[in-house]
Amino acid sequence: MKLYYDLHIHSALSPCASDDMTPNNIVNMCVLKGLDIIAVTDHNSARNVEAIANLGERKGLLVVPGMEVQTKEEVHVLCYFHTLDHCYDFQAKWEESLPKVKNRPEYFGNQLVMDEDDELVSEYPYLLLTSSSFGVEDLFRLMKHRGIAVFAHVDRSSFSVLSNLGFIPEMDGVNALEISNAVNPEQFLMKHPALASYCILQSSDAHYLGDIMERVNYVDLSSPSVEELLNHLSGFA
Ligand SMILES: [Zn+2]
Ligand SMILES: [Zn+2]
Repeated sequence: MKLYYDLHIHSALSPCASDDMTPNNIVNMCVLKGLDIIAVTDHNSARNVEAIANLGERKGLLVVPGMEVQTKEEVHVLCYFHTLDHCYDFQAKWEESLPKVKNRPEYFGNQLVMDEDDELVSEYPYLLLTSSSFGVEDLFRLMKHRGIAVFAHVDRSSFSVLSNLGFIPEMDGVNALEISNAVNPEQFLMKHPALASYCILQSSDAHYLGDIMERVNYVDLSSPSVEELLNHLSGFA
């Protein structure tokens, strides 16, 4: 079955995202747009994922536990986890690798942790827009039994694996790449024919509600499940 997705959405936890990206607003907008599978991928944190996944479950929207991490090479990588437990286990390790720099909300924006009623639970105190001390190789090793890692917006001129490393590393687990919404997938692959063997995803990287994907890109899975999606991204289905 065709399942329409947007696997790169930021919530109000990301300082650069709108405070309107609350759990309910995100889920309601995705349902309105007719999406079937989403992932909320905040910078270096997954502290809003559980509330959004619970809301999604009630509305028939599959929410994949996710995060967009920044490695020491300043490469953005999307991480999709088998379960919330895998996600939290990874998050604990990842947070230890981030510098404890206090966020300055007036400068960088708010980092809001919210519950299923969009009530503020806490403001995450340390700036999330930072690089980990883990590199790309460490990250893929950490993700090995926890989920799938996908290089984010590889077409962009900053924070992407191609802009910062100049190539896609050949390592276990590198099977899917994300291109940004601004690019035409066919034109991108004509420019980079060597990347045609990768599973190419295209998501919104929405920081505002209006930027969430329309029902445009889909994955063909036999049922809407996280396991099926991760198998698809890892090249096993
Ligand atoms: Zn990014
Ligand atoms: Zn992003």
